[in-house]
Amino acid sequence: MLNKNITSVKGVGKKYSELFFQNGINTIEDLIMYFPRGYDYINLNSGKCVFEGIVSEILKDVIVRKNLIITTIKMKNENQKFAKLVYFNKPYMKHSFIVGNEYKVYGTFKESKNYIEIFNAEKVKDFTNDVVPKYKTIKGMSNTYLINIVRAVLDSVNLEENLPKEIISRRKLISLNDAIKNIHLPKNKESLEESIKRFKYQEILYFFIKTKFLRDKLNRKSEGIKFKIFTDELIKLKESLDFQLTSDQNKVIKQILLEQKSDFSINRLLQGDVGSGKTIVAFITIFNVILNGYKVCMIVPTEVLAMQHYNEAIHLFEKFNINIRLLVGSVKEKDKKIIKEELKGDSPIFLIGTHAILEDDVEINKLGYIVFDEQHRFGVSQRSKLIHKSKEKNCDVLVMTATPIPRTLFLYIYNGMDISTIKELPSNRKKVETIHMKQENRDAIYTILKTEINKGGQCYIVCPLIEESEKMDLVSVESIYNELKSSELSSYSIGFLHGKMDNKTKNEVMKNFKDGNLDILISTTVIEVGISVSNATVIVIENAERFGLSQIHQLRGRVGRGSKEGMCLLVTNSMNNVTKKRISTLVESNDGFYLSEQDLKIRGSGDVFGYKQHGDTGFVFANVMNDIDILRNVKEDIEYMDNLNREEINEFYVNVQKKLDVIDKTICFN
Ligand code: ADP
Ligand code: MG
Repeated sequence: MLNKNITSVKGVGKKYSELFFQNGINTIEDLIMYFPRGYDYINLNSGKCVFEGIVSEILKDVIVRKNLIITTIKMKNENQKFAKLVYFNKPYMKHSFIVGNEYKVYGTFKESKNYIEIFNAEKVKDFTNDVVPKYKTIKGMSNTYLINIVRAVLDSVNLEENLPKEIISRRKLISLNDAIKNIHLPKNKESLEESIKRFKYQEILYFFIKTKFLRDKLNRKSEGIKFKIFTDELIKLKESLDFQLTSDQNKVIKQILLEQKSDFSINRLLQGDVGSGKTIVAFITIFNVILNGYKVCMIVPTEVLAMQHYNEAIHLFEKFNINIRLLVGSVKEKDKKIIKEELKGDSPIFLIGTHAILEDDVEINKLGYIVFDEQHRFGVSQRSKLIHKSKEKNCDVLVMTATPIPRTLFLYIYNGMDISTIKELPSNRKKVETIHMKQENRDAIYTILKTEINKGGQCYIVCPLIEESEKMDLVSVESIYNELKSSELSSYSIGFLHGKMDNKTKNEVMKNFKDGNLDILISTTVIEVGISVSNATVIVIENAERFGLSQIHQLRGRVGRGSKEGMCLLVTNSMNNVTKKRISTLVESNDGFYLSEQDLKIRGSGDVFGYKQHGDTGFVFANVMNDIDILRNVKEDIEYMDNLNREEINEFYVNVQKKLDVIDKTICFN
């Protein structure tokens, strides 16, 4: 039933099935996993109204400008009151009304003298509940159509429960079947909450069991490769550096080298604040594994960062005759092929890359060591996938992160991993002064930029959006670019960077900035992870109220990396109490660990914007930052189940384990 094609659903014709396919919905399962993005509560006190009447006329579409088509439908009710249903860019809505027929609609309204206008009205006839699901828009399909199709499917679907009954009763959870039905067509707010509660629980439980297995797997092969320590070469490499390692760096390097030498394999998390110099720690320990004749992978979340590490590695190992390869999406097919062949061979290679390394056709022979940089970007399953690539079963693993997980959460998510921490920053590290600026003070901001550039520095401007949006009053890369181009800064060379650009262009822009050819780089948060340009001295963060504390801390870590002091301007336009507190926390503290604890505390108080641990960990419903109580329950329950030691529970574990290798964002169903 679940894998049946979407075309088998009544009401899904050729046109609609095409639209579904285009949006990745191929089967009935895909459809029921297409969860609403939010809900509307039919609440007449919230600027919405319900109007019941007969359609009297469907007006011709009005094209206001290139991107704006207005569709208007006139209705009249028994009391001879008139309503105009107004739709923006939804010309197809015309076809869901027939003149002379009666409808009940609801939506946000505005009252005029003789009639009311209802914007993007939804038909209510089709749902009797007072909670209306809102799906992510599929172009050419109305929300009501989606509701009806999903309902038709749900009526005939019967899902097998995927949680042990002990847990269901212990935590008073509703069944999977009810939860799915409620998530799509909640009877009321309470039933919706019941569903969400269940899904959160389910996600976190599955997550724990998966990490538990992963850990067991890693621990089981605790017997590791015994590497030799090439002391002389390591000393030579250290001596070639143009700085002294800090004592924390030395301590961690020693720790890792000793583990390389031991009988056990490494499974270690290295946390260290932005700019604490984790990369060199990785490089030195990688060097030793290469000297042992093994391959090493260093995997990073973005291509720009991969390039940066690659260039640094080339520079560092210049005199040491090491094969270094870069494997990222934009490498030419021809060259990829050559690299993939080399990876199957016996010789030692230091491979740096992105997700491209995870692709199935990448086989790595004699893989001795894997380093994940900025690990919060990688899901557990991605990690396991790479670890499985190693035919050498006992490959060493190091994950590095600059976004420290608050202590409270750490225990839950990473227990089983050893931890190293670099607390001390390199002594030449310059202070970054953080200043809060109001949106109105643009002149002052530009004066600061001018002064810095004239002193020979470079600047970043970070915006929350790429292009201007009608819906949100936020600064975009595009709007800032245009603004600067017509401001007193127009004579400087200005570039921009965002996630929608192709990788080649991104790399070029980044290189230009690095080489000093650009004075100002306007960017989205793509620069957040690990980018290092030592000449950059100022970072302006627009709409700072939109970002999480840890994220801003990451961003400001982009400046003050060289010999000059850095400055971080946090620009805000709206300030509620939470924002005020967040901004002052940032101005006062430069300690990433403290900030991530604060992030949790402030967010715990009901603030939800900003840094999303969410998508990063593959959770759809749960948010590990906010759902601490569920985490606690799950932890207890796992112990409880272990103690029960029942056949069904073991079976349940086996089922979850089977799904461990499935790379899927929606943990709910795997
Ligand atoms: P992060 O820990 O944020 O990844 P990086 O490894 O990118 O930091 O290091 C930031 C910069 O500091 C790099 O340019 C690096 O060469 C430099 N660096 C690392 N260790 C030291 C040190 N002990 N003394 C001076 N500079 C250092
Ligand atoms: Mg880094």
